[in-house]
Amino acid sequence: MVLETLDSSREGSKRKHANGGDAAVPCSDDDELSNGDLNTASGLSSKRARASKEMTFEDIYGAEALLNGEDEEDDSDWEPVQTPVEFVKWCCVNCTMANPGDMVHCYICGEHKESGILRHGYFASPFFKDSGLIEVEEKCGGSSATSSTAVGFDERMLLHSEFEVKAQPHPERPDRLRAIAASLATAGVFPGRCLPIHAREITKQELQMVHTSEHIDAVDITSQLLYSYFTSDTYANEYSARAARLAAGLCADLATEIFSGRVKNGFALVRPPGHHAGIKHAMGFCLHNNAAVAALVAQAAGAKKVLIVDWDVHHGNGTQEIFEQSKSVLYISLHRHEGGNFYPGTGAADEVGSNGAEGYCVNVPWSCGGVGDKDYIYAFQHVVLPIASAFSPDFVIVSAGFDAARGDPLGCCDVTPAGYSRMTQMLGDLCGGKMLVILEGGYNLRSISSSATAVIKVLLGESPENDLPIATTPSRAGLQTVLDVMNIQMKFWPSLATAYSKLLSEWETRLIENNKNQVKKENQVKRKKLVRVPKWWKYGRKKHLYKFFSARTKSRSKRC
Ligand SMILES: [Zn+2]
Ligand SMILES: [Zn+2]
Repeated sequence: MVLETLDSSREGSKRKHANGGDAAVPCSDDDELSNGDLNTASGLSSKRARASKEMTFEDIYGAEALLNGEDEEDDSDWEPVQTPVEFVKWCCVNCTMANPGDMVHCYICGEHKESGILRHGYFASPFFKDSGLIEVEEKCGGSSATSSTAVGFDERMLLHSEFEVKAQPHPERPDRLRAIAASLATAGVFPGRCLPIHAREITKQELQMVHTSEHIDAVDITSQLLYSYFTSDTYANEYSARAARLAAGLCADLATEIFSGRVKNGFALVRPPGHHAGIKHAMGFCLHNNAAVAALVAQAAGAKKVLIVDWDVHHGNGTQEIFEQSKSVLYISLHRHEGGNFYPGTGAADEVGSNGAEGYCVNVPWSCGGVGDKDYIYAFQHVVLPIASAFSPDFVIVSAGFDAARGDPLGCCDVTPAGYSRMTQMLGDLCGGKMLVILEGGYNLRSISSSATAVIKVLLGESPENDLPIATTPSRAGLQTVLDVMNIQMKFWPSLATAYSKLLSEWETRLIENNKNQVKKENQVKRKKLVRVPKWWKYGRKKHLYKFFSARTKSRSKRC
């Protein structure tokens, strides 16, 4: 019912739907709610199947009928109830999850119903309505511009938002920039220790280095409409085209300033994000590919070799498409993949570039969720840094999504601010620290603001907070992924070969154990299909209930 209503209301309104593409789904539901299951439900009528394809975040969390497994198709005997039952009372400002009205703290992330996160960023207490005044760390230094860290930000990017006010907010929302900006201000980092750069809209000519004229026009025309959708989750309002041009313009100018040496490094605090935007399409909340624009602008300014490291939890399919035949831009992405079942489905280890540029695309595809600092740092030590050093870039761009951060409702991984700051530090040693970090995804405000602040502090020259040990032990799944990638990439980067043989012999026993456990796990997963509680309870405040139900199902299946 909910789906049908939403769909028909959209069709009858002033709306442009450029293409019906993928819907990025949060990982917070169990398998029954995944795209795959919905799309393969052969028993559904074509009407319902169409509605399922169009599912948005609101649909997934708001459609109680689906959660309860009710059949919403046959409504011939439906009678309106006297008093409508209202289930969702408030949505958490921090993680967007829906909460029953009588709860004061979000049952997923613990944030207070009247969170102060937009005023004080992650310094606001998650447990109290208002944490009061926060001491500002005043450390304004007298450093010269050439040793400065620049930050690109413009409030007009906050005007890009979904036109329709829904019960479940779209995760890519203006509050993301507000929370990061509030954290930086409270920490005295920006304004304070970083250099602001003037914002300008990028020109069509500059955008044409990356995108087709048709794509640029398709984005521009949205400024004449109240709202538009490129895919069911990639929205635009009348201000989006300008926000996208400002985001790309800030990235372009930061790239020029850093490459020319006028500033040391920089952070682009921008939205809409860019790494899913391809040569001729917008998708996955992305309109223009900001990182690709920055890379080509840096090359126009004289950079011969540009490295793009993409640590957003999703594969940057747009960036890969733009550079897959280029030997002058090396693209390295670390992302959840799960055999192509995680959005957007691309980015397998054997996607290595094409047409003479094989080896200039490096994908580190995690096989499961929950990946944390240890696996990321291990992959940096054994794949990212050895290949990056052999490539020897003049300029480094980081597509920095913070949706692999602990607490993210879409990524469900476990990277901490310390992990992000360590990765930033490791990349800072390349090409004399000429590095531009560009915000991509990340949807838990507390996680993205603490992570972004930690990254900028490293750009400013501080040591990573809560220093992690240099030698890290990866998880079994992480180790397997890293070895698979090394095995594929050593054909193009021979320096990996020795390290690969050494690691293989070192971890042989563990890998045999891994295979045995894999079989065991698969059997357990089959049994766990009986569990009717959402998988995301495992990561939130309901983890005890999750364990309880999982254990109960397990023991019940043993008795059978
Ligand atoms: Zn929450
Ligand atoms: Zn992402």
